[in-house]
Amino acid sequence: MAEIPVPAMKKKHLWKRFFINISLIVVLFLVGIFIGFAVQTDRLISEQYLTTARAHFKNIVLTRRWNAEHGGVFVKKGPDNPSNPYLENPDITAKDGTVYTMKNPALMTREISEYARQSGDFVYHITSRIPLNPDNAPDDFERSALSGFEEGNRETYVLLKDNTRSIYRYMAPLHVEDSCMPCHAKQGYRIGDVRGGISVTFDVSDTEKKMARNRFGFIGLGIAASLALLGIILFLISRLAGSLSKAYNTIEKMSITDELTQVFNRRHFHARLDEEIARARRYGHPMSLLMVDIDHFKTINDRYGHQTGDDVLKAISVLFGSNTRSADIVARYGGEEFVVLLPETEEETARVTADKLRAAIERQAFTSPDRSLFHVTASFGVSSLHMTDQNTADMADRMVKMADDAMYQAKQAGRNRVVVSSGM
Ligand code: GH3
Ligand code: MG
Ligand code: MG
Repeated sequence: MAEIPVPAMKKKHLWKRFFINISLIVVLFLVGIFIGFAVQTDRLISEQYLTTARAHFKNIVLTRRWNAEHGGVFVKKGPDNPSNPYLENPDITAKDGTVYTMKNPALMTREISEYARQSGDFVYHITSRIPLNPDNAPDDFERSALSGFEEGNRETYVLLKDNTRSIYRYMAPLHVEDSCMPCHAKQGYRIGDVRGGISVTFDVSDTEKKMARNRFGFIGLGIAASLALLGIILFLISRLAGSLSKAYNTIEKMSITDELTQVFNRRHFHARLDEEIARARRYGHPMSLLMVDIDHFKTINDRYGHQTGDDVLKAISVLFGSNTRSADIVARYGGEEFVVLLPETEEETARVTADKLRAAIERQAFTSPDRSLFHVTASFGVSSLHMTDQNTADMADRMVKMADDAMYQAKQAGRNRVVVSSGM
């Protein structure tokens, strides 16, 4: 008897697509989180740079204001401390003869900037578009920042990176204040005017390197997390696919199997019969059909009970299975009727097969509930496909009817026998 086919997992490619889609979603989600974190971290660090730059700027502005409000401060003049050549009368002499020279805000800023530069922390640079002192001439960044201030910008900053260093540059304008006027009124300064600015420059290479390392580590972590997650998803999906595949196979098997006898059901028999007729016709091969009805089965039920009747049906199904070829299709056609489809089988061979089955049933001893043994017989009708038969759409029905009629004749002729249909 033909094995109940277990359908291959036709939907394997669907699972593959499902896995790819889920993987894409997970990866996109993780990449999104990573980019979000990276952007947020960059933003926080930039804010930190800006806050630091503003604090430096504010410090120097306050120091300058203090100086300006005192109209400049005098310090002892010496070889390391010459007079400011850009001031008129920068020196005063104390009663004891010591000479003091004035440090105005601009000079003080430049000198503090020098200290800062030497300490390696940061650099201040006071500058304007037309400086009196050529040392105060703006560089490119400062020149463009100064233009921006004239257009109303309140500050300018930039992070400059090359292969070795990362430099943060900040610049804000210097406004003319009350305290500037005593010295600068004669130059036409007005309170609130922008007369240059101070740039603050500091090295952020360390922080940027740490950030790069952090980003690298984060990418590694992200990839590892994605792979782990994808592994888990793959594992879960393959388990789900496995159990769904099993369930699918079980349902598929159930839909073509007779529940009591575990041979094929009538619906599947008809589907296979159509296929086999088409195949036989295409290749000009023979094909036969057996219709089997158990004799006096009602009496078996009446005498031994319905349960024993069921056991007989199951045992006869097993007999059919063991006495047919793997290509043959055994199905339960109705209550105690079976059909056997015999592909590649001519009429005479079919008759011999039918008789072999008939004899096997006749030989088989069954046990009744009271432990006594009993025998059953069955009547067989055989129909075969002849190449001379007209090929009509109802060929399958005709073959079943011919086998059924032959089986009826077997009943009429005394049962427990095989009758070959004489055709229609
Ligand atoms: P015949 O030789 O003329 O075929 O006599 P029969 O008694 O077998 O004929 P009939 O078709 O009248 O009876 C078939 C009986 O099979 C009727 C029903 O009780 C029994 N039967 C049908 N399906 C089942 C089943 O699933 N289990 C059992 N135990 N009996 C069934
Ligand atoms: Mg019957
Ligand atoms: Mg019967």
